[in-house]
Amino acid sequence: MIPHLANQYLCTGCLACVDSCGQAALTKKNGEDGHIYVCYDETLCVGCHRCEKICPAINGERYASNEINDSQAYVAYCTEETLYERSTSGGVFAALARHIISHGGYVCGVVMEDNTAHHIVTSKLEDIPRMQGSKYIQSDMSGIYKRIAQLLKEERKVLFCGMGCQAAGVCSFFKNNRNRQNLYVVDMICGGVPSSLLVKKFMENEKEYSSLVGFRNKGEYVLSCLNRNGNLVYLSNKRTLPLMGFFSDLTKRYSCGNCQFVGIERLSDMTIGDYWGSKIDRQESVAIVHSEKGKALLKELDDVKSYPIDWRFVNDNYRCVIGKSYNNRRLQRKIMPWLFSHLSYASLCGLYGCTFQNPFLTMIFVYNRVVSKIQRFFIQRRKKIIVNRLQQNQFNKKLSAMSNYNGGG
Ligand SMILES: Cc1cc2nc3c(=O)[nH]c(=O)nc-3n(C[C@H](O)[C@H](O)[C@H](O)COP(=O)(O)OP(=O)(O)OC[C@H]3O[C@@H](n4cnc5c(N)ncnc54)[C@H](O)[C@@H]3O)c2cc1C
Repeated sequence: MIPHLANQYLCTGCLACVDSCGQAALTKKNGEDGHIYVCYDETLCVGCHRCEKICPAINGERYASNEINDSQAYVAYCTEETLYERSTSGGVFAALARHIISHGGYVCGVVMEDNTAHHIVTSKLEDIPRMQGSKYIQSDMSGIYKRIAQLLKEERKVLFCGMGCQAAGVCSFFKNNRNRQNLYVVDMICGGVPSSLLVKKFMENEKEYSSLVGFRNKGEYVLSCLNRNGNLVYLSNKRTLPLMGFFSDLTKRYSCGNCQFVGIERLSDMTIGDYWGSKIDRQESVAIVHSEKGKALLKELDDVKSYPIDWRFVNDNYRCVIGKSYNNRRLQRKIMPWLFSHLSYASLCGLYGCTFQNPFLTMIFVYNRVVSKIQRFFIQRRKKIIVNRLQQNQFNKKLSAMSNYNGGG
């Protein structure tokens, strides 16, 4: 009778199970580690096990693999300056959002409100700027699946954009929906989501700021905040707790350290991420299309320039194919809830934000660096193997296409 939900190591907090429950037996819970989890009320559960079948972390359906069938990578950027400027990288998301809304559709993306991130569904062009930009904190997807279901029922077009695990939740939830063709699923290359405790502690202690607005300005990682006078300030010092905490990799969800939603070929229509090999004076995005629908959508964007590339870009962006991190096993991660509730802000900045206040914290910093160098060595090796295989696959595909063509001719 009792549903076997994903445990804290597998759960991604996508909340698909919560919206799938017809009895409201499942609810969102904020974990002690600052991540989103699910709890359930056995008095309401009728034992239908729908939640288990929907959960992309445990339902056994593969979201992505490193094999390539029809996925194709492009470098892309938006030529419309206002859309491009506010975006994290090339502005592909903003161009997609504008295209869908201009054609009467709805867009689902993430906004910051009260120093937390959550998905919204909107058909207003003026909401696009709020959704643009990466928020290095997990977004709350409460109620989103139900809202999308309602729109699909009304035969509206919907563009969903979120992390791989959230997109997997969406793909699983709407797998058998009769209007599935109206749903465009875009996921992102993801380096993992850090704990919301980083932002919470930062806001509690840096009292001159009233709210956190953004985390990044194109290639530069800077925190932007509104101060008490309502002015926007950029904290160009990278050693702020939310940003350095993101880089330290020590507060992320357990599921991010063993991410099941990486790989080249995915169930989504498109994957977007940063492109680091740009030869022009512009931050560009990488857009990997996985379906005919995704390919057609990218082509329809008049204000996006794109050209195909091979898989070597993965060399500069391994998170596209590798979701492993051993930092999950580190003591700093395991006892993080205790540390956040017992240590001073200054000590937390030292432990997770890499500031050097005393010899002990400096020693920890050096130790962290050594461990991450060792991890990088293994990642580099694995990455090399994957990129070679992808390149070989693509070459074989081209070769067989040519021989078919010659044979046919
Ligand atoms: C936590 C996180 C980690 C990332 N790690 C990597 C990485 O390792 N490598 C890489 O290439 N790219 C990574 N990205 C993606 C990258 O930062 C850009 O978002 C991507 O290049 C697309 O850029 P864009 O200019 O097209 O769109 P953007 O203007 O960046 O908008 C992209 C979309 O992301 C959504 N979004 C923003 N924050 C979140 C969030 N917290 N959860 C879910 N959706 C969100 C927005 O609503 C919007 O729909 C990460 C993003 C996030 C949020």
